[in-house]
Amino acid sequence: MSERVYLGLGSNLSDPLGQLRAAIEALRAIPQTTVAAVSPFYISDPLGPPDQPRYVNAVAALDTDLAPLALLDALQAIELEQGRVRKDERWGPRTLDLDILLFGERQLDEPRLTVPHYHMHARAFVLYPLADLAPQLRLPGGRSLSELLADCPFTGLERLS
Ligand code: ATP
Ligand code: CA
Ligand code: CA
Ligand code: CA
Repeated sequence: MSERVYLGLGSNLSDPLGQLRAAIEALRAIPQTTVAAVSPFYISDPLGPPDQPRYVNAVAALDTDLAPLALLDALQAIELEQGRVRKDERWGPRTLDLDILLFGERQLDEPRLTVPHYHMHARAFVLYPLADLAPQLRLPGGRSLSELLADCPFTGLERLS
């Protein structure tokens, strides 16, 4: 049985829209995995250092037979393929960021992987596109997406048509 995974996609360097489009094509090529849906794209204000361009963000729904760490390996390979350079500065600019938001009903706390993503509940650029795909979603633990959205203003966010 495959599991439904939600991914957060973000880019603020080197043609962010093109980066996200290329990432979605690369997601389609991951083995034992299909891309079920992609949200509209959003523009968001950066977290962290303010002297960086705004982000383009989206959420993708995947169905996968891969184990969580195998999927993370595939996602990190795509980040590197698209020129991601790991820097010391936290939340600095990047060509591509692929975060696993949810992996079925799993709750994981491993050195390389925390699921649900530790900060998704407070990030407008995650919650709004996620709601475009799955407005009725409940997180493992029972909180509903609509409850989270009620506490997360649409601030610093712009939806692209
Ligand atoms: P944030 O995690 O606050 O969104 P970030 O995306 O900039 O920050 P990265 O530098 O991309 O952080 O990732 C750091 C490490 O986080 C990765 O090497 C990965 O092993 C780990 N990690 C833990 N949980 C997850 C997850 N749910 N999805 C992706 N990476 C994760
Ligand atoms: Ca595939
Ligand atoms: Ca991130
Ligand atoms: Ca990341």
